[in-house]
Amino acid sequence: MRVVTTFADREEFEKAHVRLDAHGVPFEMVSPDPGYRLVGVPALVTEAEGRVALTPRGAAEVISAGWVEYRPARIAVPEAEPPFYDEDVFGEARIMVLAPCVADATKIRLIAHLTGDLTGVFPYLNAEMKEACYNARGPTFTFMDAYRMVSMYARRIAVAKADEIVDGWRTLEMIRRRVNETWARRAHIEPCYEMRQKPPALEIFKRLPGTNCRACGEATCLAFAVRVHAGEAEVSRCQPVFGGEYGHLREALLEVCQAVAGRGTREDNGRRHRTRTERHAEATGFSPAHD
Ligand code: SF4
Repeated sequence: MRVVTTFADREEFEKAHVRLDAHGVPFEMVSPDPGYRLVGVPALVTEAEGRVALTPRGAAEVISAGWVEYRPARIAVPEAEPPFYDEDVFGEARIMVLAPCVADATKIRLIAHLTGDLTGVFPYLNAEMKEACYNARGPTFTFMDAYRMVSMYARRIAVAKADEIVDGWRTLEMIRRRVNETWARRAHIEPCYEMRQKPPALEIFKRLPGTNCRACGEATCLAFAVRVHAGEAEVSRCQPVFGGEYGHLREALLEVCQAVAGRGTREDNGRRHRTRTERHAEATGFSPAHD
């Protein structure tokens, strides 16, 4: 099986490139240049064994965003340079986490950190995107881009159900343009602070194990999802996810609960679990989002 990864910055990409060359590991490169160059770093495609060359025993690890099964892109990277904005509130995006989508194994999810800050633009986006879910307390701004779920925070963006890495870059570049173009027109937009409908309980249900094991005290996962959605149960009561064999679902589950609640999701003991983004950010020295 061929796998693909990307990196938070071009320095890590270059290190990986050199390491694979040195070990004679064949690879291909998928480039975001030029059209997606502000939201992506080149990705490397190799056989699954090629990953080992990036983490040799005794050598410094090349820090990648994560590995997913490679699928060729169905769209091309634009040949034109991305537009420049006098006031750029988005800045550049750096993908810190790349992983399979837990709700659909044929899709990927990613988390990108931004050099800009989106806080100020959310009320203007909220005024124009009637289908979005905005919570000023987060702040969080969640919407669907066709079947992709996009969760925006002040300094990071999570995209679930992207087709593959190029589609992920396309989504980020689409957001970059929409954010900056909305900001440029803000004098003509009445900001809206209305908090709209949160993501449906089904989005929580889709991220639960689906085994109906009853460890949470509910008869089914769906019943539990409805109670969590209503704020009547702590998501951490799902023991298979928070302490059992389904731990890999935890991050995505916390993410959607955060979008539902518009705040950090806490566990029963009051200690917030660090997300993989935050752990990764610590490892890379890239400061986690202050949101
Ligand atoms: S503990 Fe988790 S997996 Fe088990 S029924 Fe409850 S929600 Fe479903």
